[in-house]
Amino acid sequence: MTQAEVLIQALPYIKQYAGKTVVVKYGGAAMLDEALQAAVMQDVVLMRYVGINPVLVHGGGPEISEAMQRMGKEPHFVGGLRVTDAETMEIVEMVLAGKTNKGIVALLNQQGALAVGLSGKDANLIVAERETTKGDIGFVGRVTQINPALLHTLAGAGYIPVLSTVAVGRAGESYNVNADTVAGALAAALGAARLVMLTDVAGIYQDFADKDSLVREMSPQDARQMITDGHVDKGMIPKVEACVAAVKAGVERATIIDGRQPHALLMELFTHEGLGTMIR
Ligand code: ADP
Ligand code: MG
Repeated sequence: MTQAEVLIQALPYIKQYAGKTVVVKYGGAAMLDEALQAAVMQDVVLMRYVGINPVLVHGGGPEISEAMQRMGKEPHFVGGLRVTDAETMEIVEMVLAGKTNKGIVALLNQQGALAVGLSGKDANLIVAERETTKGDIGFVGRVTQINPALLHTLAGAGYIPVLSTVAVGRAGESYNVNADTVAGALAAALGAARLVMLTDVAGIYQDFADKDSLVREMSPQDARQMITDGHVDKGMIPKVEACVAAVKAGVERATIIDGRQPHALLMELFTHEGLGTMIR
């Protein structure tokens, strides 16, 4: 394909998504590797400059675990969720809403965008209550409400919101919420056109042990079934649940793509082939 053809292939997608919101869950290798980080930031800035309203929701598990260990605490997980006692919650908030969030904001701004870093406490963006279904795992939150008004205001003024998933409880206490879950709930609340999740695998495999079994597209019903029958496991569970919730709430497409591939986001949004697994 000539360079002109490559560019013109993007035109229908730019037209389709201009003025619309695209929620991006940023996590995995794309967050840890410097070259991949820069590529993601360029993609997000490009989205902004072609008229899309990107909203970035980030994770930060490895950085939290590292900070915990430096402070002499051993990370523990139950059903993929981090056991979060009061001290761990403080560390989560310091790292996620502080260092990690502002690091991403600075990277985006270096690429020529104006990004604004927020946590779920800002303008009560993410309200949560204690997650109780997995026994006592401390300050792990279940989202009860999303108040997205601030994000509309920021997007309308040309800013790129970058959100860490520290949520606020009724008494002002902090909760640690899985970033996939927040991304899904946020895409629904914002009426986003797309939800895109960057992760460290190519997408959803029918059988994770069989690398030829990547599923390119499935319905929310089939996706749910894969969780029920155990084909989707571990960290993929909240991702798939979030995609299903978003699509059921009216988001046109939710996609899980390989963040280890540079510019995966651009390829997914602006090419005919796309990437990864699409749920719609
Ligand atoms: P992230 O940091 O992006 O949130 P996670 O490790 O939480 O990534 O979730 C992705 C992981 O889910 C994969 O690395 C893989 O080990 C696991 N997984 C379980 N079942 C599947 C499946 N059917 N297809 C793909 N990945 C799966
Ligand atoms: Mg995860």
